[in-house]
Amino acid sequence: MRPDILNPLFAEVRAMKGVGPGLAKPLERLGLERVKDVLYHFPANWTYRKAVSLLDVADVGSNIIVTVTVMDHRNSNNARAPLRIFVADVAGNYLTLTFFGRNGGWARNQLPVGEKRIISGKLERYGDELQMVHPDHVVLVDSDTSPGLAEPIYPLSDGLTNKRMGQLAGAALQDVPDLPEWIEPTLVAGRNWPNWTAAMGSVHRRDDQSVRDRLAYDELFSNQLAMRLIRAAMDKRTAVPVAGDGSLISLLKLPFALTGAQKRAIAEIEGDLAQSRPMLRLLQGDVGAGKTMVALMALLRAVESGMQAAMLAPTEILARQHYAGLQKLLAGMPVNIAILTGREKGSLREATLMGLADGSIHILVGTHAIFQEAVTYKSLAVAVIDEQHRFGVSQRLMLSRKGRGVPHLLVMTATPIPRSLALAAYGEMDSSILDELPPGRTPVETRVMSQDRLAELIDGVARHLAAGKQAFWVCPLVEESDKSDLAAAEQRAEMLRLRFGPQVALVHGRMRGAEKDAVMERFVAGETRLLVATTVIEVGVDVPNASLMVIEAADRFGLAQLHQLRGRVGRGSEKSVCVLVRTTQIGETARARLALMRETNDGFRIAEEDLKLRGAGELLGTRQSGDSPFRVATPEQVRELIGVAADDARLLLERDGGLDGPRGQAARVALYLFERDAGVATLRGG
Ligand code: ADP
Ligand code: MG
Repeated sequence: MRPDILNPLFAEVRAMKGVGPGLAKPLERLGLERVKDVLYHFPANWTYRKAVSLLDVADVGSNIIVTVTVMDHRNSNNARAPLRIFVADVAGNYLTLTFFGRNGGWARNQLPVGEKRIISGKLERYGDELQMVHPDHVVLVDSDTSPGLAEPIYPLSDGLTNKRMGQLAGAALQDVPDLPEWIEPTLVAGRNWPNWTAAMGSVHRRDDQSVRDRLAYDELFSNQLAMRLIRAAMDKRTAVPVAGDGSLISLLKLPFALTGAQKRAIAEIEGDLAQSRPMLRLLQGDVGAGKTMVALMALLRAVESGMQAAMLAPTEILARQHYAGLQKLLAGMPVNIAILTGREKGSLREATLMGLADGSIHILVGTHAIFQEAVTYKSLAVAVIDEQHRFGVSQRLMLSRKGRGVPHLLVMTATPIPRSLALAAYGEMDSSILDELPPGRTPVETRVMSQDRLAELIDGVARHLAAGKQAFWVCPLVEESDKSDLAAAEQRAEMLRLRFGPQVALVHGRMRGAEKDAVMERFVAGETRLLVATTVIEVGVDVPNASLMVIEAADRFGLAQLHQLRGRVGRGSEKSVCVLVRTTQIGETARARLALMRETNDGFRIAEEDLKLRGAGELLGTRQSGDSPFRVATPEQVRELIGVAADDARLLLERDGGLDGPRGQAARVALYLFERDAGVATLRGG
């Protein structure tokens, strides 16, 4: 049961005052469902302003706030020319406000001649004049919404403006309860951390590392605590030992020999499966390392022992690809495999549910639908979770188990966890690493190219397509703007269609499952040859004939993400190329990062660098959206905090009376807040 104190935080955003149906979509896209999601949607950046009373050339280039009087409107005869409004400060220094397009109408109303207004924006110079293009704020002088000196810049989505997002955060802050302190008191005092409520208030108002540290720590602590609780709970329960007699595995006709790393991982997993202590193992391996094959062996062991196995994929497309791949490998064998996603409905779904309950289905592949309450297995012995860091699902899985004990759990990830972090972050799990790629792969050649040379690049793509091959074209992420990445992708697809016609297909994250699958299927079948995509192709598709990957505005992606995307090519025997297109003006660091991508294919090295650059939030799977509180922390700091959190969690359980002690009650609140609550339930034997 969720502690009552959290109720306001779990209220639906839709039910908040002033949130109309128009915001439903943008909020959904950002994953902002509940009040707490809004609170944890942290600013990615800040605009700092200087309050001035006099306009001064010295401030050109700065963001200023100033009170002005509107002097004149200047309309041009040319309808396309911008509207110019002249304003003056108290000393009579002039400033031109410039408005393009439709903003003119709005500006005319907001800035009537003769009236005073507070305005803010970037002061520029235009010829001899001081100019401000589209001020950020134009407000009445006695308004209570006058622009602040520091304004948070939020990650946005089409239809949600920064101003609106700021208002939402402000409204959400009104409902913030006083949560009890779950962190060890001497630690809080020693680090000078604010309490949770104060930290939450500050994080939306100013950029303060100590506040971010505290909020980051909360997540690390909950993660450590949940992992310990799960491990402890699993150790208390038993799993059915899965031995298997090799009768199915010996029937497999693999077109290749397993790599040494695969054999090692399989042996480790088989060692775990044979025990009654439930397996809790992480399988790390770079894209293309052959994790599926390792998973298959675990699945088959369960079936050989007369039990069932399940494999969970993060997306519909990937679930289907796993299903198709496994079906092919298992053809002609006495193994019954089924798929279950949100798309299987009606009698088909009923039949699958029956087959799972009576044991006639041996292996189930699917999305999270496979662990829903309505799904009962006759004897689930092994569960494989592909591509995921979070423990939420695995907890649900354990809860769903009554009777014969918990299933053995294998969690696979293609984002290698930097060695420097793995032990601290995942110490409660056993780990296998595929550090060897199957032989015969030609490494992907990576090139970096400036956006200026787009025309040249497109000629290259033309040659590639003319040779009968296929290509991916990944469109840029549009950051911190009201424009959507979808618009960018659509525009690019349009442009490429002018040149390449109907061979061009477009896939994006907002398509429905069925629609998306249809596009993907046509590309896999070779009916379309150039797939323009937003990052939805990140995990998934295996198209050996696609040997060219173009990634636009590559400098805006995380390194791990680029590495994942690049892993989509180089799957056939063909030499593959990945072109990282960089925006024209990038800094030293961005340059260095792209150079690293060119230099190495080693996922672990890239992960380590990515950790340095982006912090650990993403890595630990703690962030669904918004910015990570780990943003500016160094890996050393993150590692140190994880170590402290691990000790803190251990102290709580071993010294401070566990979840039923006084601090434990507070810790329970944290677990529920971060939805790690199954840890609590499992401990109670739920
Ligand atoms: P990932 O680790 O990214 O999930 P997959 O399991 O999808 O990788 O494997 C990538 C490709 O490599 C697949 O086409 C698979 O059939 C092939 N593969 C797997 N193991 C081997 C091996 N030992 N030798 C050759 N090819 C292999
Ligand atoms: Mg895979």
